[in-house]
Amino acid sequence: MPARAALPTCEFRPPTASVKCQKTSEANTLNAVLAALNEPGRAPAACPNCGGRRLQRWGFSGGVQRYRCVGCGRCCNPLTGTPLARLRRRDLWLDHARALDDGSSIRAAGRRLGLHRNTTFRWRHRWLRRPGEQQDSRFRGIVEAGLVSFHDVRTHHGAKRQTWRRVAIVRPRTDEPGSPEKPAMTARPSVSVLVVRDRRGAMLDHVLGAMEHEATNATRMARALAPVLGPDRIMLCSDGSPLIDGVARELAIPFHALSSVPGSRHFEQYLVRGFERRLEGWMRRFRGVSARYLAHYLGWRRVLDRHRSPEASPDWLRLALGPGGLEGSTTMASATVP
Ligand SMILES: [Zn+2]
Repeated sequence: MPARAALPTCEFRPPTASVKCQKTSEANTLNAVLAALNEPGRAPAACPNCGGRRLQRWGFSGGVQRYRCVGCGRCCNPLTGTPLARLRRRDLWLDHARALDDGSSIRAAGRRLGLHRNTTFRWRHRWLRRPGEQQDSRFRGIVEAGLVSFHDVRTHHGAKRQTWRRVAIVRPRTDEPGSPEKPAMTARPSVSVLVVRDRRGAMLDHVLGAMEHEATNATRMARALAPVLGPDRIMLCSDGSPLIDGVARELAIPFHALSSVPGSRHFEQYLVRGFERRLEGWMRRFRGVSARYLAHYLGWRRVLDRHRSPEASPDWLRLALGPGGLEGSTTMASATVP
């Protein structure tokens, strides 16, 4: 029997009626989000179809207040424009959040939810869109930056089979004396990801591009680092990558090339390499992911890393809605009640 049967059940009704949910924190979270979406005075800023600002309340759909544009007659709701827009079966959203928590594969999550794997795939990447985009913007103190390389990655311009090519992590070379020789990089396409961490928990991952395109990667890296790192009070510890060192010089960020300092074990990149090890072990279950969605998986892993204690379960629903979801809605100044 799928796990779905053991999960709390919810009935979604207009907020005038009490929502019957078991008293679990997840159910309360879902109710709180729906209640926040339905707060009086909260509505889409404008009609997504014509931009009109005269919106009327127009009943409820799936427990969410619906609005009708006076100008064009089209309906929208506070989820319109968010990644969760037009996703049905809100009664399964809690289950889906748990599947994300557990890092379930597409098929396992599909069995759990009772949904087709294609639907589960679509849900996963809708929910992960915002976490994949959200990066920390303030780094302080000693900042570690390193490159994680994924090989056998193909861009997928319409080639369906290529979207499922395996993405695997290539271990970086190590300078440890006596360590076994690492396999040489192959000529297969590879993608580099810039991983930045500081010791206060700030995280940033940026998918660069094919490893051999160093000039392009340097430009992308500079664009990613410039807004978050500055020459004042920042020590950027790189793993000796000439690419990172070059960009740090270009941006005038004080940096420390770890591999060039013999015996500097206390400066080991334990944040970046710890993330890499967790990522490698965790992604193995997916049996290969598409390069197109690599940023989503990195964001997913960042969320799990931020909530590593058992009692601090991530609020996936709010994360999926993103800062433009709940907080981005504006007061309905011109709305009228029919
Ligand atoms: Zn309209």
